[in-house]
Amino acid sequence: MSGWLPFAPDASHAGADPRLAGARLTIDLSALAENYRLLVRQAAPAKVAGVVKADAYGLGIEPVARALWRAGCRTFFVALPEEGIALRAVLRDAEIFVLNGLFGPEAAPAYAAHRLMPVLGSQSDLSCWEAFGWDGDRPRPCAIHVDTGMNRLGLTADEAFAFAEENALTGALSPRLLMSHMACADDPRHPLNRQQLESFQAVKRAFGQTDSSLSNSAATFLGPAFAFDMVRPGIALYGGAPVNGRENPMLPVVTAEARIVQVRHARPGETVSYGAHAKLDRDTVIAIASAGYADGYHRAGSQAGVPLRGVVKQSACGVTHGRRVPVLGRITMDLTMFDVTDLGTAVAPGDWIELFGTNIAIDDAAAAAGTISYELLTSLGRRYHRTYVGGE
Ligand SMILES: *Cc1c(COP(=O)(O)O)cnc(C)c1O
Repeated sequence: MSGWLPFAPDASHAGADPRLAGARLTIDLSALAENYRLLVRQAAPAKVAGVVKADAYGLGIEPVARALWRAGCRTFFVALPEEGIALRAVLRDAEIFVLNGLFGPEAAPAYAAHRLMPVLGSQSDLSCWEAFGWDGDRPRPCAIHVDTGMNRLGLTADEAFAFAEENALTGALSPRLLMSHMACADDPRHPLNRQQLESFQAVKRAFGQTDSSLSNSAATFLGPAFAFDMVRPGIALYGGAPVNGRENPMLPVVTAEARIVQVRHARPGETVSYGAHAKLDRDTVIAIASAGYADGYHRAGSQAGVPLRGVVKQSACGVTHGRRVPVLGRITMDLTMFDVTDLGTAVAPGDWIELFGTNIAIDDAAAAAGTISYELLTSLGRRYHRTYVGGE
């Protein structure tokens, strides 16, 4: 060891040493657990699983899964078998479902070795899991996905009826869960919601006593008819608003902040950042923050930036010294400029500016960049210094 980095001499990834970090994430595991408990109350008597795909929406599958387990969660959904393997290493006794299905015959042994249940959503998935065979004297467990309106994954209703009838005779597969996925639940008035509910109820009747699950975060708030035996929230656990246009009942879980690395003064008539689109009409104090689109602070959030299909109404903003300040000029890869003129001389290098979190809702920060909280969280990137609080 050279001794140049005495506090983190073996740091193998960016963000390991807080003194060297341009931006930091604080992830509140007690808020996550509180959100889980709120969903339990909302969905009761249905069970609440945790959707932890994509590294728990970017927040870190290991600490998130442990916190959910401590809060009572026993069933988890990931998208990919490798995410399932990572989760199995953390939670020995959890039920783990792999949403994206079975990745062919070469992948099947890994599902079995790590006790991952594939969510079978096509005829080829079904025959592949059947052919892979039995675990001793019983078929290996799985979930059956039926499509009710998403046209993404899932058997058609007719395929599901045919499967149910045949499997009742052969017992070739052992479905632990029948599931489907809602397309428009974040819009409670959308007519597809009821249509999907009714299609799912019809298929469910053919599956007898098998547990069933239809709802993501949003549908968990559509009413008891949507709860079935288990709900599968993701974004609501992480603090995102489950339903558009309603007050968000969830607690914020993640706060992103960037280090202010410089404060500079500019004159009327000067411009800021690439493209020179932000033209100053007053003496302006600019705080330069060490985070940009490489940190998932999307360029589309720039004032005078790049409207996305005309939906960017307002530039992104930050909060520092208790005040909301707008992004000034285009967000760049590693740096973002904020107009802190109205804060007087209060701002100094070394201060931190919140990008979203306890003061700026993730849904608002996402909307300012023409996107959704899901995309904001899953594109955070690897450069943040991460601190988990409230874990025990
Ligand atoms: C991602 C996903 C969920 C969780 O959705 P949220 O909207 O984040 O609650 C549930 N079910 C399926 C099939 C999914 O793909």
